[in-house]
Amino acid sequence: MTSIANSLQQVRARIAAACEQMGRPADSVCLLAVSKTQPTASVLDAIAAGQQAFGENYVQEGVDKIRAVRAWEAEAGGAAPSQWHCIGPLQSNKTRLLAAHFDWVHSVDRLKIAERLSEQRPPELGPLQVCLQVNIDGGPNKSGVVPADVLELARAVAALPRLRLRGLMTIPEPVSGFEAQRAVHVQARQLFEAVRDAGIPGAAWDTLSMGMTGDLEAAVAAGSTMVRIGTAVFGAR
Ligand SMILES: *Cc1c(COP(=O)(O)O)cnc(C)c1O
Repeated sequence: MTSIANSLQQVRARIAAACEQMGRPADSVCLLAVSKTQPTASVLDAIAAGQQAFGENYVQEGVDKIRAVRAWEAEAGGAAPSQWHCIGPLQSNKTRLLAAHFDWVHSVDRLKIAERLSEQRPPELGPLQVCLQVNIDGGPNKSGVVPADVLELARAVAALPRLRLRGLMTIPEPVSGFEAQRAVHVQARQLFEAVRDAGIPGAAWDTLSMGMTGDLEAAVAAGSTMVRIGTAVFGAR
């Protein structure tokens, strides 16, 4: 077994244990393997170990990897194709490339970017799956819409034709201790539920993307449906 296969097995076990603790089904949390700065060879090792969804922060780096992996998949045939999520800050001059290659984007925090992504999404690809990044803890220098503006942005994004709105994403400031981590993630879950209850026509609203290597358990305890794990899967960057 490669060390990446081994790490993946350990991360899956952490997710399963955290789910069991909460009485949640183990398949209620998706694992997104964050492959930023990692070589394509490491992504292929992870795919060989059964991993399907990958997260990238930088659009150009991600697209280079997506192209390489898609070429490999076309040769290899067989298993379900990998799925690619953009989780980094978005710039207007990168939206066309993003829309043409990624399956998901988690970091939409303003309508102008969402409109560009919708306009630029190639029709043959089906809708781009979107989460809104929310600045849940008011952290400094961080992208993300403020909680009070989430509902309005969600309704506007859900109305765009080539996007499918799925939920929220958060990157809280690092805090230590399970309870402190969970408290922030619970705020995100409450916002997620409040928006769902207010109603967003056209949105699936089934995804709460939160939890990284250091706070996976606290995020699952608070209701995360997708954890984004880099270091524990691929090693230190
Ligand atoms: C890098 C990154 C991750 C993964 O972080 P780890 O601590 O290595 O697990 C998750 N989400 C975002 C947005 C990131 O930039």
